[in-house]
Amino acid sequence: MEINLSAGLFTPEKNFLQFDESTVYDTVIVGGGPAGLTAAVYCMRKGLAAGIIIKDMGGQVAETAGIENYLGFRYVNGAELVDKFREQVLQFGIAFREGATVTSIQDGSVKRLVLDDGTSVSTRTVIIASGKSWRRLGVKGERELTGRGVAYCSTCDAPFFAGKDVAVVGGGNSGIESAIDLAKVASRVVLVQNLDSLTADRILVDRLGEYGNVEIIYGHGVTEILGEERVRGVSIRSVGTGETRNLEVQGIFIEIGLVPNSGFVKGLLEMNESGEIVVDSACATSRPGIFAAGDVTSVPFKQIIIAGGEGAKAALSAAEYILTQK
Ligand SMILES: Cc1cc2nc3c(=O)[nH]c(=O)nc-3n(C[C@H](O)[C@H](O)[C@H](O)COP(=O)(O)OP(=O)(O)OC[C@H]3O[C@@H](n4cnc5c(N)ncnc54)[C@H](O)[C@@H]3O)c2cc1C
Repeated sequence: MEINLSAGLFTPEKNFLQFDESTVYDTVIVGGGPAGLTAAVYCMRKGLAAGIIIKDMGGQVAETAGIENYLGFRYVNGAELVDKFREQVLQFGIAFREGATVTSIQDGSVKRLVLDDGTSVSTRTVIIASGKSWRRLGVKGERELTGRGVAYCSTCDAPFFAGKDVAVVGGGNSGIESAIDLAKVASRVVLVQNLDSLTADRILVDRLGEYGNVEIIYGHGVTEILGEERVRGVSIRSVGTGETRNLEVQGIFIEIGLVPNSGFVKGLLEMNESGEIVVDSACATSRPGIFAAGDVTSVPFKQIIIAGGEGAKAALSAAEYILTQK
């Protein structure tokens, strides 16, 4: 299948193609984290008519301050690495949509991806690389005050809380890392943990202990985030006694893990109990022609280099599938 570059679809200054609703692509990638972007490079180098649909460019990497375990870089910040990924992908003239969300996939020999703006894209294969997002607490005030005192990424947002009192929810590694980030800038940090102990690695807990402005409240859960225009406090309830009290804080960081972005293929693909898409060693899902890669899958260990490697595998599998179907 060829894309007609003379049809006015090519955007030379950006070096990518706009999606064309009448084209049946060879493969369309969902997600622009390391898995999706690596898959894009491999698809284009295989000569596939490929496209990529991205809600937020870079995925979790865009929310990471410093990376020290991605080969080729002793240290790189997340934004810089995402810029390099983007530059590499866009050199190939791939069909590209940023700021769009795939809301469902209709399966068949030609698959139809439906987007949140009502448009659709047709393709013979799909690579799902939609990664993970922060887990929500699901309490009153959380959604309304997100971005107005409710935050999920201390790496991104800790500096906005300089000199303020903040709460952190979660006693695992993310919670403790977040509390450490905040202790450096905030006036006071209150860590709320629903268990009677922290579950984070010892080294992190010890490091947190070096800060004198951190208080840990064990055996409590957050029941409500208070505030109208901005966060002014949180209500917490004792797991043991059920007693409720309020903490006066101007911010709350919710650090209770990540959930796979797999809701849009629920019922279509086999998933494990965590909602991750089950894949085999070649990134094939339970449906022919639909591949998945990276953090959204059942593959263990969620890291940039692993997601990238899985993205490469998914692309090669999609290319092989197309060859064998011709
Ligand atoms: C704070 C933090 C620090 C980290 N530090 C490191 C580190 O130092 N080293 C390391 O190796 N790993 C680190 N990780 C883990 C690493 O970032 C992830 O393993 C990796 O980003 C996973 O890549 P992915 O492409 O599978 O998914 P993601 O990075 O989650 O990307 C998913 C992509 O899919 C898009 N998307 C989701 N749903 C849809 C949809 N329906 N339609 C269209 N697009 C969609 C998203 O917008 C995004 O572009 C860190 C993670 C976090 C959160």
